[in-house]
Order: sequence, then C-alpha cells, then structure tokens
Amino acid sequence: MVKPITMSQKVHNFSAGPGILPDEVIQQAAQAVLNFNSTGLSLLEISHRSKEYVAVMDEARDIVKRLLGLGDDYDVIYLGGGASLQFAMVAYNLLTVDNYAAYTNTGVWAKKAIKEAKMMGKVTVVASSEDKNYNFIPKDYTVPNDADYFHCTSNNTIYGTQMKAFPKSAVPLVCDMSSDIFSRVLDFTQFDLIYAGAQKNMGPAGATMVAVKKSILGKSGRIIPSMLDYNIHIEGESMYNTPPVFPVYCVMLTLQWVEKMGGIAAMEKRNNAKAELLYNEIDRNSLFVGTTAKEDRSYMNLCFVMKDESKEEAFSQALKVANISGLKGHRSVGGFRASIYNALPIESVQVLVDVMKQFEQTHA
Ligand SMILES: *Cc1c(COP(=O)(O)O)cnc(C)c1O
Repeated sequence: MVKPITMSQKVHNFSAGPGILPDEVIQQAAQAVLNFNSTGLSLLEISHRSKEYVAVMDEARDIVKRLLGLGDDYDVIYLGGGASLQFAMVAYNLLTVDNYAAYTNTGVWAKKAIKEAKMMGKVTVVASSEDKNYNFIPKDYTVPNDADYFHCTSNNTIYGTQMKAFPKSAVPLVCDMSSDIFSRVLDFTQFDLIYAGAQKNMGPAGATMVAVKKSILGKSGRIIPSMLDYNIHIEGESMYNTPPVFPVYCVMLTLQWVEKMGGIAAMEKRNNAKAELLYNEIDRNSLFVGTTAKEDRSYMNLCFVMKDESKEEAFSQALKVANISGLKGHRSVGGFRASIYNALPIESVQVLVDVMKQFEQTHA
C-alpha cells in the first residue's frame, strides 16, 4: 500500500530554480502520479493523445492567456529544451538573413541569448550593464525601428535586477520572462513573444512556455527544422511530438492555484509585501548591503552581501539552524540571494528577517 504523502512544512525554500511550488500543487501532482483523474493509471503512463491529457494541455494553454490577458491573436505552446533553447529558436524564427536583431545585455542569460542569435545572423546590442557586473538596468536607449525584433530579459535571476518598464518598440518585442512571469501586473499585450522556463515561477523543470503572436511568424525566410519551428508546434496544438507531459500538468496546477488565489494582481500584492519586508531589513541592518541599484531591484530574486565577508560562514550556519534553504548567492555575485517566487509564503521571509536581526545583535 502507498503511504499517505506528507511534506515537511519546516524548510523555508529560497531556491533560485527549480524553485518552490505551492504545497497543494505538489500533493495534487503526487496524486496524479499514483492515479490520474481516477483513470486507474498513472499520469506517467498514459498517452498524451488520451482525451484526459488533451484536456490538460488545452487548459494549460488557455490559462496562460486568461492570466496574462492575451487574446486570440496569441498562441501558447509548451516545449522542451529550457529557456536556453528559446535563445536559438527566437532567432531561428524571427531573424532574417539580411537584417539584424536588437538585444539588451543585462545578465548572463541575456548574454547567452545574444550568443545564440549571433550564430543565426546579425545582432546589435543596444544597451549593456556588463561593465558594472550587471547591477543595474540600462534605460538610456531606444529600440531601433528597422530591426527584425528587440529582445530583453524582464528579470535577471542571477543579479537581482528587474525591468520596471519596457521600452516602446515599433518592432516585435520579445521577452525572456523565465524568473518573473505571473509575478506582477503588466500589459502583456505589449509583447509579441514571451518565453519562460517553467522551473522558476510556474512549475518543475522540463517545460518552457512560449506565448507568441502568430502574425510575427513565418517571415524569417529560413528553412527551419520542424522541432525548432514555432508554427509547426502551434499547428500541432503543442503536441507535434510528445510534450513534457508531467511538467505541463504541474504548470497547469500551479497556474490554477494562481488563478484561485486571485490571479496576477494577488501575486503582485503578495510579492510586494515579501520583497519590501526583506529589502527594508537589508537596508536597515548594519551587517548587510544590497548589490543592485535600488530603482532596479528585483522583487523575485533579492541579492545582498555582508559588509564583512568573514561573517558569511557564521551567517550561513544561522540560516541552516533556522531551516532556511537555497539562499547562497550565484558564484558571479557571491553573498546571498533570496528567491521569493509566488509560492513562497511571507512567513518564510519573516523567518529570514528574524535571523538577520538576531545575527546583527550577536555579531555587529
Ligand atoms: C534560468 C533562466 C534561464 C535558463 O533556463 P533553462 O530552462 O535552464 O534553459 C534563462 N533565462 C532566465 C531569465 C533564467 O532565469
């Protein structure tokens, strides 16, 4: 017999990705692995063409449009290969042989997107924060109106910077939203193509969501391998080949949770409260300092270091004692990074803030 599924509630999960998911999503996903929709079969062993699973895929595609407020001019598909495959796919589908694409270079992921696009054709980097270790969002640029498209990264997961506004663009606006999709209210119709790896804020690793305006496709003049052609996946209703069945199911559950909680506006409110609680403490506490320009601070990945690096090990130990997990900063920034994705409860942030306060009292 299968034992009932229980999870420890005690670990405060600040992992940058794969990141925290709502408890109830994990429970529902576990149930579906055991017996999917009372079919007597595991979700892991049914056909993706079964009517039960086709309904899952349809809902997983529809709910993205509902939450983002996208109309019928957009299609939603789920693909394998991570957000990293989209770096190449975007260029393959949108970059013509004799023109160029415009990019901003705001972090390691943006730089990788640029690298892949350059394999396909010409790229102009219109703004970069690389010389400041990506600690701010450049704003002093205009999007050229003769480029094939403009690509930006809404939230720089590693450095903890976030675009608060997006430039006016006369050309298709493409955005890597892997680490802040569904976290805040935006006019999503300003984007022509949005992509996001699921494992930061919408599900487990293994699926990437792409929402694309049909009208921008089919113009690159390239012969595109079928698996890299957005149109082929759209025509196949995101089942041209076997889709990432289980990750897409978990994405559907997570987005249904978002909808039930009150949609993106409710997530934004939650995330603002969490981010402000922690940033206030980072700014108040004499031992810590934020690593990014204040006006560009991310409300998903909050990066900070200790003024005295030699105290980092003792602080890490205090985190461990408090059951705080995943707070280590990326090696390119050092220090600490608190990823406070949608599913993270504010109680976990409060525990972290309490540890910081206590540590100040004993170590300042
Ligand atoms: C994590 C991340 C990626 C890479 O995602 P993979 O799914 O590992 O390919 C790309 N862009 C951003 C903004 C990310 O946070």
